[in-house]
Amino acid sequence: MNCVFIETGSQRILVETGIGRKFPDKQARMYGITRERALTDSLRAIAGVGPEDITIVINTHLHFDHAGGNTELTTDGKVVPSFPNARYLVSRAEFEHGERPTERDRASYLPDNWRPVKENGQLELKESDYEVVPGLSMETHPGHNRTMQCWRLEQNGQTIFGFADLVPMRAHVSFPWIMGYDLYPVETLTAKKVLLPKAAQEGWLCLFYHDPDVPLGRLVEEDGKLRAIDYRQSLGVSEQ
Ligand SMILES: [Zn+2]
Repeated sequence: MNCVFIETGSQRILVETGIGRKFPDKQARMYGITRERALTDSLRAIAGVGPEDITIVINTHLHFDHAGGNTELTTDGKVVPSFPNARYLVSRAEFEHGERPTERDRASYLPDNWRPVKENGQLELKESDYEVVPGLSMETHPGHNRTMQCWRLEQNGQTIFGFADLVPMRAHVSFPWIMGYDLYPVETLTAKKVLLPKAAQEGWLCLFYHDPDVPLGRLVEEDGKLRAIDYRQSLGVSEQ
């Protein structure tokens, strides 16, 4: 799960919060959760910020592997927001869907990941397309469900695009490769056919949330097909 931290000077923004640490051992084994360190430890080690420093948390949608780190368990078993000073942003339609999921996606929506945030007055429900801060915006692309959002960061003519679960790994760049989890796979296909050729033409950096090897890639066209390559390779920089 590749979460993104953005420092704007006045805001410290976290896009997605991963799977979190509330899972009982049985589920942790079931889902093969073998993290080396928690997201908040990575944030401190890499960016030098603590949970209290985060000012905005964005969820593309409320599935447990994207919003699980929104909240955490206290030692006395209470569930509280992990980022006490942050505004948490999510689309209103996704929030309403999470509160009333279908039987097929019900297992992905665990209310402990957003209700304590709402009760604490930290949850802000947003439109289907909105600007987070200048240069960072969210847009709804149906397919995975009807309300999931992708994010777009633009600066100095460069775009980084977070596909969330529309293109979760680089293998899914191929048009017909679509997750079995998707509620509306034909709509996923339609969205991919609009976004991916554009990403290739305009040289977007593409964030693949679930890719274990190439979280950030660029798309190249070979024999009429799109393929993702590691962004370091695309820059001619060797891996370190
Ligand atoms: Zn999902």
